[in-house]
Amino acid sequence: MMVHEKTTLGILLLTMGLFGSGLSAPPIPAIDSAAADEPIKVLATLPVLKDLVQEVGRDRVAVTSLLSGLESEHTYTPKPTDILAIQDARMLVRIGLGLEVWVDALIKNADNPRLLVITTSIGVPVLKNQDIAGRPDHPLGMGDPHIWLDPENAKLMVRHITEGLIKIDPTHKKAYLRNQAQYIQDLDQTQQRLMVKLKPLQNKKIITHHAAWSYFARRFGFVIRGSIASQVGTEPSAKHLSDLIQMIKTDKIRVIVSEPQLNPKLPQILAQETGARVVILTPIPGALPGTETYRSMIEYDVDQLVNALKD
Ligand SMILES: [Zn+2]
Repeated sequence: MMVHEKTTLGILLLTMGLFGSGLSAPPIPAIDSAAADEPIKVLATLPVLKDLVQEVGRDRVAVTSLLSGLESEHTYTPKPTDILAIQDARMLVRIGLGLEVWVDALIKNADNPRLLVITTSIGVPVLKNQDIAGRPDHPLGMGDPHIWLDPENAKLMVRHITEGLIKIDPTHKKAYLRNQAQYIQDLDQTQQRLMVKLKPLQNKKIITHHAAWSYFARRFGFVIRGSIASQVGTEPSAKHLSDLIQMIKTDKIRVIVSEPQLNPKLPQILAQETGARVVILTPIPGALPGTETYRSMIEYDVDQLVNALKD
């Protein structure tokens, strides 16, 4: 039963990924001038998207996120009010790539003809998710959906958001483009600052709790040697854990990355067995103090690893 449902969902998501993007949809009429001063109601699936929309839209948008940032992005259960929020929104911004498996049904049931759906992963070079490669039936079989953890990808995502806002509110096109340019410049500065901090690190090998960090690791030069959970919500086997323990010891891996959204039990056990240290990073802004925006979150996550890995 579950397998069958997953297959149907996979096909549905694949179809939507190919043909259902907000950007290739027929043009949606711009708002009428009487309502032009009202902020545009935008709904984001994740707080990271909320932050990016706010950077481009500023006072022209009223953005809410369906997830608060404290839930895992994989196991979120929609609230009854989510459908009302979609009915009330003008634009919905999502990652895609099968991450928000729950959102397609919500959009369909909300049946809001004015809703512009922006899929921010379109055009982003996608990394294969090692744990589920070759499984097209899997919701994440399209590739690793954690694209936002590389600021270079975030820049592309921001461009999709800007295009969406201009489509709805062309009057303020100049302002959106200006805000976008400013934000991309800010991201560049953040990256440059972090690259300087990363330079002295020798050993950049880590183990992650769930496979969220491949884009982040590639951008900042960390080497992920393994993950505890191949899928959030499933328990790894005893053999997998003992293999990881062996690897941590022989490869001299000093850091195990966990997240505030996940149960810390297994990372703690691995740390006790090996002497490695658990470092809590968040893939979603707002889950830890000092990670309220996307930029501050990326800085926080890199800083934590720099502090844990420096000699
Ligand atoms: Zn994830």
